[in-house]
Amino acid sequence: MPVSDYIVTIGLEVHCQIKTNTKMFCGCQTSFADEPNTHTCPTCLGLPGALPVLNEFAIERTILSGMLLACSTPPTVVWDRKNYFYPDMPKDYQITQMDLPLCLGGGVPLYDHNYPKDAQKSIKNPGKVVQLNRIHLEEDVAKSTHLANSTLIDFNRAGTPLMEIVTEPDIESAEETFAYLKSLQQILIAGGISDADMDKGQMRCDVNISVRKNESDPLGTKIELKNMNSTSAVRRAIHYEVARQCQALDSGETLVQATWRWDEELGETQEMRTKEDAHDYRYFPDPDLLPITTADYIEKVRPLVPELPHEKSARFQKELGLTEYDASVITSDVQLVSYFETTIQSAETSGKKVANWIINNLLGLLNEKSVEIKESPVTPEKLAEILNLIEAGTVSNTQAKDLFTALWDAPEKDPAALAKKMGFEPADTGAIDSLIDEVIAANPDKVAEIQGGNEKLLNFLTGQVMKASKGKANPKIVTDGLKAKLL
Ligand SMILES: [Zn+2]
Repeated sequence: MPVSDYIVTIGLEVHCQIKTNTKMFCGCQTSFADEPNTHTCPTCLGLPGALPVLNEFAIERTILSGMLLACSTPPTVVWDRKNYFYPDMPKDYQITQMDLPLCLGGGVPLYDHNYPKDAQKSIKNPGKVVQLNRIHLEEDVAKSTHLANSTLIDFNRAGTPLMEIVTEPDIESAEETFAYLKSLQQILIAGGISDADMDKGQMRCDVNISVRKNESDPLGTKIELKNMNSTSAVRRAIHYEVARQCQALDSGETLVQATWRWDEELGETQEMRTKEDAHDYRYFPDPDLLPITTADYIEKVRPLVPELPHEKSARFQKELGLTEYDASVITSDVQLVSYFETTIQSAETSGKKVANWIINNLLGLLNEKSVEIKESPVTPEKLAEILNLIEAGTVSNTQAKDLFTALWDAPEKDPAALAKKMGFEPADTGAIDSLIDEVIAANPDKVAEIQGGNEKLLNFLTGQVMKASKGKANPKIVTDGLKAKLL
């Protein structure tokens, strides 16, 4: 049967490094690009006799993540040892949380703008919230680099606090998985919990995929794709793997639960090993670490819960009159939100106009010059000054765009002084006044209609005056002038 007739079920385990200065169970600095093996100590090297000490900040950040995602935190949580032998963890176990993790339940809202661009027009489940099973805290392992005949190990990463965010098997497609990863990233960044940069390995995920023929069938055999580190690769890998599983079932094969990997260059999935079950790891409570009670952490963290992107978006629509689209663009990036919010603080114009200007002009120029919003040479304060010049009738919209570009190249300049230097004087009110008279005289029929109650036609006359002034007049002042003369 065709692939589209199969029901696809996907569950994700996302590993996300928490933004902390020190490791999970020792005082070593966390680092990304430092010289290998320069941030180590007996504890994170797993030397005999070394004891772990908890990083409380990492515990707080994990509980905060749970609050952002509507999880609950049990009153007591426990640390477990996950036992296995592998050179990236020389003490032969990883400290993690098995039975009582820091967060249970909850969900991740999928934001429409986080679906792949080509899939945004046909979102199957708009407003979906992907159900979470749990979030637990553990330590990262060392980084292995495999060469032809040997392996290099860098222990700088060993012991970095790592959250594992586990979904229920609640995702239906590659596109939803893509939106899930982007939305989760956006929320963790907004909460200041992680930079969640997949390129830097701060966020990686394992993807569990199965297919079945009917809703009433049990879930199909699960194939796990290990260690994916880019959202677009995850999307490609799922499409490939779903097609492969459907084809196998169509030809009568039996699938075996196993761990596979995605080969980006070949564009195919490859089998690594048959999957271990949890009991293979012989989990047991870590005798070096006492269970922790969470009440005090919860109270400490509660005031830190920020307004989330979708909450901000709803507020911008309600209070500032932004369209749904504009609000979702503005809230899609934490730096962009901050730029917008700083601009509206000093702009004497509507939030809607500020949003329009940012989306239509600022983002265009940033894109063209490949500059990130936080590096924008024109600061929010200066943009607010430009918008105020438009509002005061000193410059027209078209002139403001030229002024903005000029300020981009000379950001230290004062917008008002620069406007003057560029010859953008406020239009001569006497001249505008006579243009208004001319337009009124030339349109007796429209004037009669306006005076008969059709005030919408004022826009037409305003347009005529604007045209006559070659775009220099301020439309608001022109409309006011027309009203004063006609009504
Ligand atoms: Zn250490």
